[in-house]
Amino acid sequence: MDWVSKEINSLKEAGRYVPIRVLESAQGAWVSIEKKKMLNMCSNNYLGLANNEEVKKAAIEAIKEFGVGAGAVRSIAGTNSVHLELEKKVALFKHMGSSLVYQGGLLANTGTIPSIVGKEDIVFSEELNHASIIDGVRLSSAKRAVFKHMDMKDLEKQLKEHRNEGKKALIVTDGVFSMDGDIAPLPEIAELGEKYSAMTYVDDAHGEGVLGSHGRGIVDHFNLAGKVDIEMGTFSKAIGSMGGFVAGDEQFVDLLKQRARPFLFSSALNVGDAAAVLKSIEILEKDDSLVKKLWDNSEYLKKSLNDLGFNTGSSKTPITPVIAGDEKKVVGLSRALYSEENVFASPIVYPTVPMGTARIRLMPSAVHSREDLDYAVTAFEKQGKKLGILK
Ligand SMILES: *Cc1c(COP(=O)(O)O)cnc(C)c1O
Repeated sequence: MDWVSKEINSLKEAGRYVPIRVLESAQGAWVSIEKKKMLNMCSNNYLGLANNEEVKKAAIEAIKEFGVGAGAVRSIAGTNSVHLELEKKVALFKHMGSSLVYQGGLLANTGTIPSIVGKEDIVFSEELNHASIIDGVRLSSAKRAVFKHMDMKDLEKQLKEHRNEGKKALIVTDGVFSMDGDIAPLPEIAELGEKYSAMTYVDDAHGEGVLGSHGRGIVDHFNLAGKVDIEMGTFSKAIGSMGGFVAGDEQFVDLLKQRARPFLFSSALNVGDAAAVLKSIEILEKDDSLVKKLWDNSEYLKKSLNDLGFNTGSSKTPITPVIAGDEKKVVGLSRALYSEENVFASPIVYPTVPMGTARIRLMPSAVHSREDLDYAVTAFEKQGKKLGILK
């Protein structure tokens, strides 16, 4: 096992060893870390639903009635009526025929993709796709053609050159790209799918609860109901809990229940989590004020940072990257924000983003107040000047 310490040391030397911060409180605008109250600017809890009273109550009630564990895999004895209720709700919310709930978003991708393509087939995959899509494609053994980020000319070129190399073809993309906050041109992708007889699959992890009417996601945002074959998402970000799903037509979901390995070989999502998710979606259906507050806050944050001269890149969503380029400066900024300003905002550096585009990714939420955002901006201004990132 000697190699382990060598590996750890080389990560540390390269500045790529990530220390893990430990929260001692619930998720929210302010959290407790190392006994200090810190302004939390890096959770995916976009709408504050992770610590919402109604959502917690729904989970507690479900646990009282059904216990804590699902007891088995879905295909044996782990399917509870709450799972089915949730699957119906997700399909309705998404305007899709049917849906399947998984234990997480990563499992939704790694379970679904190998269930629909195999070694005879080909996948056209966006170059900045999430790791769980990449893993799903690898597990499928399908051939792979990677197209350039947001580049529809390149996608069409790849389709022309390689479509015939697979019996079935699948175009797969993130909906919102998590490092830059830009949005995939889904209408063009759907058209190209149609033109070249390829299935289309969008991972809406950062679009759920954020884009579209009442946070229905990217397909609703572009008015594409019926034009995208498969929509995948997570319940762990804006929805505030845990779990993932895939939505599509009824027969497709039926087939997944026979094939998807996380459905067949890993125990079901706990019923308390399923009940929490159900409540979160009900809250969104009834009332879009949290979604509106999220967007107000993110526009305010971006404008305040831009007015000071910070570069927030090409984001079209609440994801707010503060791009400073230099890796060491960004790591230094994050450290100074943490230790001197009580602002918790993690640095994102190569290889997660291209060399020279290091950044701090800020995640505003509906539970941040204007004062909280001003507090963060003031801290960025002070430390940005100190470190020479701002003139
Ligand atoms: C977070 C994320 C996932 C994984 O979802 P989990 O529910 O956390 O497993 C998948 N895809 C994308 C694009 C994500 O951002």
